[in-house]
Amino acid sequence: MSRSILNFGAGPAMLPEAIMLQAQSELLDWQATGKSVMEIGHRTDDFKSIAEHAEQSLRDILNIPDDYHVLFLAAGATQQFSVIPMNLLQGKTSADYLHTGIWSAKAMQLAKRYCDINVVCSSEQSNFTTISDANDWQLAAKAAYVHYTDNETIGGLEFHSVPEVGTVPLVSDMTSSILSKPIDVSRFGLIFAAAQKNIGPAGMTVVIVHKELLGDVLPFTPDLFDYRLQAKEKSMMNTPPTFNWYMAGLMFDWVKQQGGVTELEKLNQRKSSLLYDFIDASSFYKNNIDAACRSRMNVVFSLIDENLTDDFLKLAESNGLHALKGHRLAGGMRASLYNAMPESGVEQLVDFMREFERTQC
Ligand SMILES: *Cc1c(COP(=O)(O)O)cnc(C)c1O
Repeated sequence: MSRSILNFGAGPAMLPEAIMLQAQSELLDWQATGKSVMEIGHRTDDFKSIAEHAEQSLRDILNIPDDYHVLFLAAGATQQFSVIPMNLLQGKTSADYLHTGIWSAKAMQLAKRYCDINVVCSSEQSNFTTISDANDWQLAAKAAYVHYTDNETIGGLEFHSVPEVGTVPLVSDMTSSILSKPIDVSRFGLIFAAAQKNIGPAGMTVVIVHKELLGDVLPFTPDLFDYRLQAKEKSMMNTPPTFNWYMAGLMFDWVKQQGGVTELEKLNQRKSSLLYDFIDASSFYKNNIDAACRSRMNVVFSLIDENLTDDFLKLAESNGLHALKGHRLAGGMRASLYNAMPESGVEQLVDFMREFERTQC
């Protein structure tokens, strides 16, 4: 058995060893029940305690006000791209979207089936290297909600502050940035995050939604996609992804042990700066993203001499630095530095990059 590699994959991503070991130690026998969490009925008191504990921990970590529901739903973030308009349009016919990369584009593409999309701003002209000035945004007062992608996982572009959108409810895809920094939940109508980047195994999405935002869904909406019904049934209209929910709870406890999201933000800031500073000082590697919106979770970079990319990736792999290949739509390299990636891992990456450069020059 070896966990001696460093996994820079964007997701499903590496998890803290401590929670993997805890899950392992109680895999066959959870709290002297003689059963695995996988084998416990979702309506039992045992699972109820797991579910409630996870929800409470997340509420503690993010200071989620009482007038927000927290839902633990099956499937991924892409599903929410459709479910959100079904729930939030409520008689309105358009929604605002900030277009900052591939995930926001996908969200618009799927929502288009249900409403008109007003593109508030687009980073397309800059080839998705920056977010345009908020003074130039075209917000529509008639929009049912404003959707943005807090961190564009593929392009490496992140909002460093919550966008100002007036009184229209703000919806944020925080799949790849949740738990990496403090957020003021009260500024949002809805936050959603698929688990596999910074929460736990793939297959579940956390939705945090203001209670007053919920109302009648579009007429054809399946019951399972109706947030109001899911909230009423505590995300258990049918069997929820129980093991994922349990793993999320372990992660939330781990986040608390690290000092919460305030401490993790400092750590993530240090980790990403280490890599960006090295890249900026180099004439061998580059990153084109505007420094004001560089992602702290997914650092994209490339070699000035792109012919060396394959060699770089091959040698990185053989040095225990795994999954640095950029997204298939982006090319180059991407180092994902979620909470579970230790600072020493980024130091090792930078050492490798320095050494690779030295041997090529
Ligand atoms: C990974 C990711 C998604 C897609 O998640 P799925 O669970 O695969 O649907 C959506 N948005 C962002 C920001 C992501 O990082």
